[in-house]
Amino acid sequence: MIQKHYEHVKDICGEAELCIVTKKRSIEEIMSYYDAGERVFGENHAAELKKKASVLPQDIRWNFIGHLQTNKVRMIMPFVSMIQSLDSMHLAEVVEKEAARTGRTVDVLAEVHLAEEDTNKSGLEPEELDGFLAGLASLPHLHVRGMMVMGPHTDDEDRIREVFRKAHELFLAHQKENSDFRILSMGMSDDYPLAVQEGSTMVRIGTYLFETGDGE
Ligand SMILES: *Cc1c(COP(=O)(O)O)cnc(C)c1O
Repeated sequence: MIQKHYEHVKDICGEAELCIVTKKRSIEEIMSYYDAGERVFGENHAAELKKKASVLPQDIRWNFIGHLQTNKVRMIMPFVSMIQSLDSMHLAEVVEKEAARTGRTVDVLAEVHLAEEDTNKSGLEPEELDGFLAGLASLPHLHVRGMMVMGPHTDDEDRIREVFRKAHELFLAHQKENSDFRILSMGMSDDYPLAVQEGSTMVRIGTYLFETGDGE
């Protein structure tokens, strides 16, 4: 039974949008959530996104959530609805060029690195965000919709909450200046209830939604 935790997750999410993370999942597993009415799916691997999007229904809104190499932008552009992991001006310029070439616009989130203890994580430093967003304003084929944040990799709930709270403050400050800045993507299987409590508008959940078996 694939959808063991689905109702529970939907309950906790409330108004927050659910992006179902499909990495390492089969077409059948993904389709079970499509058939349940879900349309927003996330992938962190360019070739996987292309492979899955090519055979799955066209009305899925694919979100790219992983580290995006510039040489993979062309591969995902025909399929992707939003890139959540935009974290450099160089990448933004490559996306802009490819979007312009293919005559489309693409929604993007700025990925911000707030979990200082996780030094290997990608994302802009918070103090870089202003300059980055100002730079994006000159790229007409990109629409900035908000920001994406990863919680720290720890069991310490207070620390996770602290990072999410900081993210929410940063988010609200930018929303004041730009009413299109509406999406705060934060929360995964292990920390999404905290993220929702702290103001997340979109959670990205894979593992928990695809757990099967009888055990909780
Ligand atoms: C894998 C992944 C998720 C989902 O993580 P789960 O623990 O499987 O829910 C969310 N966001 C990003 C960026 C990911 O790579």
